[in-house]
Amino acid sequence: MYNPSAEMPVTGTVEEVQHHVSGSGRGGTRFIIARMTSIALAPARYTAVPGISGRRMQICHLVFRGYPMNFRISLFTVLLVSLAALGPLMAQTTAPHIVDTLVHYNGDPAFLEKLIAKLDSVDAMGLLSTTPQDLPTVLAAIKQHPRRLMCQGRLNLDDPIALDLVDLFHAAGCVGLGEITSPLKNYDDRSYWPIYERAEKYRMILHFHTGIVNRMTPDIPSDISADRMRATTLDGIARRFPKLTIIGAHLGNPDYAWAAESARWNPNLYFDLSGSSLIKHQDDPTFWKSIFWWSGVVSLHTPPGTPNAFEHLVFGSDVFMGEIEEFDLELARYHRMLDACGVPKTAQDNIMGGTMWRILNAQK
Ligand SMILES: [Zn+2]
Repeated sequence: MYNPSAEMPVTGTVEEVQHHVSGSGRGGTRFIIARMTSIALAPARYTAVPGISGRRMQICHLVFRGYPMNFRISLFTVLLVSLAALGPLMAQTTAPHIVDTLVHYNGDPAFLEKLIAKLDSVDAMGLLSTTPQDLPTVLAAIKQHPRRLMCQGRLNLDDPIALDLVDLFHAAGCVGLGEITSPLKNYDDRSYWPIYERAEKYRMILHFHTGIVNRMTPDIPSDISADRMRATTLDGIARRFPKLTIIGAHLGNPDYAWAAESARWNPNLYFDLSGSSLIKHQDDPTFWKSIFWWSGVVSLHTPPGTPNAFEHLVFGSDVFMGEIEEFDLELARYHRMLDACGVPKTAQDNIMGGTMWRILNAQK
């Protein structure tokens, strides 16, 4: 967390920063931007700014101290964009047909255009996973397309400023955190609990990678292990933080049974089936009936009143390198599997978007 001795030297004047952040001019919002930016860059001069809550100022104060100057400026821009321009992110009042719970922003604005066109064509909304650095671009896109985009913040659980980043993403209007991946300890390690507690306070959705994970640079040593990301590690988090909504990506591949059984008893735990699993089982799509087996079962050993077992699935495309065609491919894989398993249309509608839409509206 914050270390006073690590404070960065102040190298920018208000005017230089004003030019950098918002262009020339001293009127209205831009003047406030310059004032606030000077505060972020020189916390010793921290004073109240009319119209900005003390809590948000405190967040600025904490978040920016540990970063190099350029990064502090860009992060501060993010916060200001959220304060000055966004307004309510849930501007849409009618449910989209599809909610894609996992689509990654690759940092290329051209990809955003393709994504918006794709989402428009099927009446979908995407929860766009973004880094702090890309937040200004993503927030501007959300402002332009509030019916199509929301954001979820990418953070590393082991980042010493992870808690501050939760605050930042929340202040920016992001509805969740994800995709969370590659922790140095198991997801349910108690040292991560303050992060989950903070996210629960904000009613954010946590989207964790689960199961086997890619290895894109095999020649470079890495401290990553799929064992720390097993689906079973989400069970304890779901129980300890009942107001959190948790999504496990990839249904714990290949621990499908453990993932589904955890979801069966945890009403706040969902999974997506993005990744290689639907490809692996494309020749035996009814395999999934053995995983989601409890539809209509009445027993003391299964929670009463549970919906169709498949409704613990939500849709996620996991488009992550700008490969927008994967959206349609994944959609087709979901539909083929759900049809083969005889999942009723009402349940399929919930899987595709209804469930997430209900959760997102409950956050407001
Ligand atoms: Zn993943």
